[in-house]
Parts: sequence; structure tokens; C-alpha cells
Amino acid sequence: MSEYFRNIKTGASTIATGMGITLQHFFNAVKRKGDAGVGDSNYFGQVDGLVTLQYPREAIPTPANGRYRLENNIDDCIGCAQCERACPIGCITIETIKVTADDLGVCGKTSGGQQKKFWLPVFDIDTAKCMTCGLCTVVCPTECLIHSPVSDFSEFDRQNLVYHFGNLTRLEAEAKKRKLQEQQAQAAKDKAAAPAKPVLSGKSVAEKTASSETEDSGKARGENTGEQ
Ligand code: SF4
Ligand code: SF4
Repeated sequence: MSEYFRNIKTGASTIATGMGITLQHFFNAVKRKGDAGVGDSNYFGQVDGLVTLQYPREAIPTPANGRYRLENNIDDCIGCAQCERACPIGCITIETIKVTADDLGVCGKTSGGQQKKFWLPVFDIDTAKCMTCGLCTVVCPTECLIHSPVSDFSEFDRQNLVYHFGNLTRLEAEAKKRKLQEQQAQAAKDKAAAPAKPVLSGKSVAEKTASSETEDSGKARGENTGEQ
């Protein structure tokens, strides 16, 4: 009989303890975590407070060193394609056009002062394939390819996950290509029309020496014949 009442007492005390913890969380939840909400730098360090966020109006802050959606600051990109070669799954597609001498000023320099020598009509990153490994960012010599803090970029259409960073439109790219081809063709014509410069290579010197020796020995033979 005494065990019966002891069990009732234990049950009541367990319920009271559970309700106490529940009520404690209930009253803590009337306030938010941190005064500045999700923008508080100590957000993750706070135990108490409301944990449910009004997503997508609110979102948990991304850590400063997190690797999220790639961005290319195309003004600093020199078109070296090292990122494209480094990517293990081929998410980056680059097309370049060599800048003609008269366009170097228009193409400009990077923020570090490096002359850019390629137009980039195509610089696409397929973020649907990207596994955010960061290999492409570490090889970038101008540090223009970075992981942005954007972590949520879902789309209904997969094609919208391909981000375009190119610095020429299709028409502009065609015009630049045509201009480069014309200049290259003119340079080839000028080279072909230029008078050939005499080149005394090792072989021609040897040939010249050999032929002059032959002439000399012929002459010598003629002289000998004449004497006879
Ligand atoms: S982060 Fe990795 S997977 Fe994504 S584009 Fe760069 S190298 Fe490729
Ligand atoms: S490695 Fe950097 S500079 Fe070179 S093409 Fe890629 S983004 Fe541009």
C-alpha cells in the first residue's frame, strides 16, 4: 500500500518537474535571442530566446568564413582560366578574346594595376553542379572569384542556377572577334609582303664556306691545267 502512494508521489513530482522546464522555455520564448535578433554577432552563443525564425524574411546569419554561392568580380578577372582548370567537376565555362593593342586602354586594368589582355564574353558558373569546394578561389591570382554569403538561391528552373559574369554581349563579342581577325590577317599580309632579310644561319655559313672551297679548288685545278 505504501508503495502505491510512493509511486503516486513520484509521478506527481516528475510531472511538476517536467511542467516547470516546459514553462521556463515557454516564458523564455516570449523574448527574442539577442537584442538585435539574427543580426546579433552572439546569436549562436545565446541559449534562451525564441528559436523559430520568420523565414524567408529572417534567416540565420552565415558565418564570415562560410563557403556559399560563388561570385566573380569580373572587373578584376584577367581571363587566365586557372579556375576553370582547377574545378574538378567542370562548373566554370570561360571563353576569351584577345584584346587588340588599340583596345587595351578600353579593357582597362584590375584594381591591383594589372593590364587585362582578354575580353570575357563568357564566364558562367553552374551553381547547380558546384560543391563549393573552393579550389577555384584559391588558384585565382587576382582574388576576384570569391564565395559570397548568399546561401539561399533556390530556383524553379535549373537554368537560372547558371550565373553569367561575362563582360561582353554576344554582338560586342562578335565585333571584337572580327576586329582581331582583321588585324591578324593584315599583320600576316604585311609580314608576307616585307622583303626577306638575309639570314646567315650556321648551315648557310657552312654551305657558303664549302662552296667557296670548291671554287678555290676548281680554280686551282684550272691553273694547274693551264700550266700543263
Ligand atoms: S567551388 Fe569547387 S566545384 Fe564549385 S566551381 Fe569552384 S572548383 Fe568547381
Ligand atoms: S582564376 Fe580568377 S582571374 Fe583567372 S579566369 Fe578565373 S576568376 Fe578570372
